[in-house]
Amino acid sequence: MLNGIHFLLTYKCNYECDHCFLYCGPHSEGTFTLEQIRNVLDEAVKIGTIEWIYYEGGEPFLFYPIMLEGIKLANDKGFKIGIVTNSYWATCNEDAEVWLKSLTKLGVKDFTVSDDEFHFENKDYNQSKVARSAADKLNIPTSSISINEPKVEMRSESEYEKGKPVISGGVTFRGRAIETLIEGLPRTKWEELKECPYEDLKGLGRVHVDSFGNVQICQGLSIGNFWETPLSELVRNYKPDNHPICGPLLRGGPAQLVRDYDIKHKDSYVDECHMCYKARLALIEKYPQYLTPRQVYGLEEE
Ligand code: SF4
Ligand code: SF4
Repeated sequence: MLNGIHFLLTYKCNYECDHCFLYCGPHSEGTFTLEQIRNVLDEAVKIGTIEWIYYEGGEPFLFYPIMLEGIKLANDKGFKIGIVTNSYWATCNEDAEVWLKSLTKLGVKDFTVSDDEFHFENKDYNQSKVARSAADKLNIPTSSISINEPKVEMRSESEYEKGKPVISGGVTFRGRAIETLIEGLPRTKWEELKECPYEDLKGLGRVHVDSFGNVQICQGLSIGNFWETPLSELVRNYKPDNHPICGPLLRGGPAQLVRDYDIKHKDSYVDECHMCYKARLALIEKYPQYLTPRQVYGLEEE
């Protein structure tokens, strides 16, 4: 059941992290207007099962007044609201509280701050901690996402299969992470990558929407364009087994995807997402309406 709509309010970000699965950066295009936000929220009401609206990016605080207005609109419609930010704006406690003060009466139920080595080089004092402490003071519920440089660990027999290397750090190997972070990491044989471990391809659970109209189940994997077909209709008519990418993924993961389309592939990959992303890249010209936007594959828009 679709429970959450996550606005990729903008693809623009002041950072350009190695692990960014959306390839965001200062030059990324694609920011929602208020009129577009209103349209999506009206459709969210029609869907009937949506409880949560998230504002994220890119970095949503780069478009603070629009984010704030979007939150007000969602709040007026009775949705619970979440925000995900890299907290670049939290320069000191007093200022961070000023940034967050306007959010206190607006139904913000989850304020997620990314607290990564990639942003803050593992310093004990960083903006993420300032942002969280300001939110705590204002009684805004907080959580954090922490993604660190991938490291290979050998787990002992009691913890895990004997001698099997495990990649720690929490990076998902999609988008820019595949260009920048996979070298030297252990690999698994392609035929063992038999399921999608992270996304609810059947029930959806949550989708990410962007200003181009894409409804993404996973980064760059869309069920359709809501500027062409209303969002509520896209969700209602979604048949996972008939979707040209989700169908094979549901039947047998990325391994099935390469079998179904006879895609040339390597013998092994870092994980399911690494293989899935590479297979999808090979299919991008065949299914441009589902494998989009191209920019999250590091490609220019056509
Ligand atoms: S991971 Fe987050 S902070 Fe880093 S570039 Fe992507 S959107 Fe920006
Ligand atoms: S990249 Fe593919 S395997 Fe990984 S979460 Fe997304 S859809 Fe699933």
